Parts: sequence; C-alpha cells; structure tokens
Amino acid sequence: MTIIDGHCDVLYKMYENRELDFYNPQTTALDVTYSRMVQSGVKIQFFAIFLPDKIRQPYFEHYLEYINIFYQKIISDPRIKLIKNQTDLLEVMSGNQKGAVLTLEGADAIQDNPLYTQTLFHLGIRLIGATWNYGNWAADGVLEPRKGGFSRKGKRFIKECNDLGIMIDVSHLSEKSFWDVAVLSEKPFVATHSNAKAICGHPRNLDDNQIRVLIQKQGRIGITFVPWFVNDQGSASISDLTKHIDHICALGGEKHLVLGSDFDGISKWIPDLEHAGQYNHLAECLSKYYKDEWINDFFFRNWYRFLQRHLPAR
Ligand SMILES: [Zn+2]
Repeated sequence: MTIIDGHCDVLYKMYENRELDFYNPQTTALDVTYSRMVQSGVKIQFFAIFLPDKIRQPYFEHYLEYINIFYQKIISDPRIKLIKNQTDLLEVMSGNQKGAVLTLEGADAIQDNPLYTQTLFHLGIRLIGATWNYGNWAADGVLEPRKGGFSRKGKRFIKECNDLGIMIDVSHLSEKSFWDVAVLSEKPFVATHSNAKAICGHPRNLDDNQIRVLIQKQGRIGITFVPWFVNDQGSASISDLTKHIDHICALGGEKHLVLGSDFDGISKWIPDLEHAGQYNHLAECLSKYYKDEWINDFFFRNWYRFLQRHLPAR
C-alpha cells in the first residue's frame, strides 16, 4: 500500500509536549509516528502548523517555534525528507525515504506582511489555510458568527500564495470565504480535511456545489476521519466513510478525492482507524466496493498528481 495523507496535527502535540518522540516505536501518544507510517505504507505525510485558540496574540515567532520542532524532530532524521519542489517529490516517490509536506492552518500571525509569507515559503511551507474556524485579518472561518468572506488584505494574500507556489486550503473557511477563493484563486485549491455535507451535516463539511466547483477546478477533497464529520451521531464506523467517498464519486470526484486524516487533531477516533498504522482496515472495507485502481487513486495517486502539478519545479 502507498498512502499520501494531507493533514495531521502531530506538530501541535509536539508543540504542547516537547518530550514526544516521533521516531520511537513505543510512542503511542501520537497517532502518526514513523513506525506507524511504515506499518501502513504512508509515503508522504502533511504536517500542519496550528496555533491553538488559547494563544490570544499569535506572533510570527510562534510559527518559528513550530518550524524549529519540525526541523529538529521530524526532518533532522534522514528517513523523512522535506518536500519543497517537484524534484524532492520524485526523489521521495522513487526512493526509500518518506516525505513530509509542511503546511499552515491559520495565517493569523502573517498579519498581511508579505515578508512573512515569503519567509514561510523559504522555510518550506507549501499549503496554507488562511484561517482556522474563526475570523482573522484575512478571512472568516466556518464558525465565525458574522459569516464574512475574505478582507481586501486577504484577497491580496490569495494572489501572493498563488504567485509564490503555496497551495490554498479551504477546509476551515466560511462559505463566503470558500467562494472568494473559488473566484479569486488562479490555481486549483484543496479542502485538505472535509467530508460531504449531504452525508453528514456538520458545518466543516462541503455542500454539493462546493464539491462540484472543487472538481471542476481540478482541486482536491481530503476525506477526514473526524467522527463528527463522518456521521451526525458522531460515533462513526469505517463503512460510514465509504458513504462520503461514494457521494463525492457520484459527483464526479473519483480523480479528486484524497485523504486528510486529521490524526492527532482528534480526541475520538473511528474504531479500527485510530492511528496511521491502521489504513489497511480502510483499504479492506473499500476493496468490497472499489477496484484497486480507484483505491490507489484515493490513497495516493490523486494527491501525487496534484503535487506534481502544483509544487514549484525546483
Ligand atoms: Zn483542521
């Protein structure tokens, strides 16, 4: 099995607890560890930088602190290589190393400073969600009561990301913000960890019109394992996930559907899909309904094709 997973919060847990060891096979406090990646065949893992809400004044230095953890504790080991461009991607896919893509969930501390955006790019950030669930200088998130879209500065930020080669993540955006991206982004964009609202009504999920435009613009939708985004009762099973996959495929998304587990960002798990070493259970369930070729598309090829197209050449 080969897997590319578009979202996890390992760095958040490591930011909160500096003792956690990603490479120690005994580590069970992390859903994603190197050993579990090996166990399942996770070839590329996206690592998100996320500043929790309790940081009332997010500063750029908070990002640097996260990036420092990422460099010191994830990619200092030669078993995982930071993927910054197409050459790195090819090298990882054809070699023994695993790959890491560094992402930012919430641009709060960028504060409309293009120097910060450029510096984050140089340090390896390749995908940014402008905001988390709430509003900031750039955009409103999905739970912000005023339900706004992108600000003037935020709209300029979309263009800056497009120009630099930073992919845009719409997963936590309000509906208006989503449609601002759909109109303004010159490049395809991604919902790294969101499911289908038609199957589960949670506001973090995407309605059919949003899914259609993502498909039409050659973006990607990452199926996520957060139980309350999977079914309305919040006690989901693996077979409930297939309903989201079926629905997105029925809308024409079989080449756009990817994985975005949200491992380490969740406190409740789908039974038998509780950490990165258990993707085989999802594969077993899917193999009852889908050809291997499709499962491989969902598990890595759709992500791979997107990265090939949208990572900078070098
Ligand atoms: Zn998230």
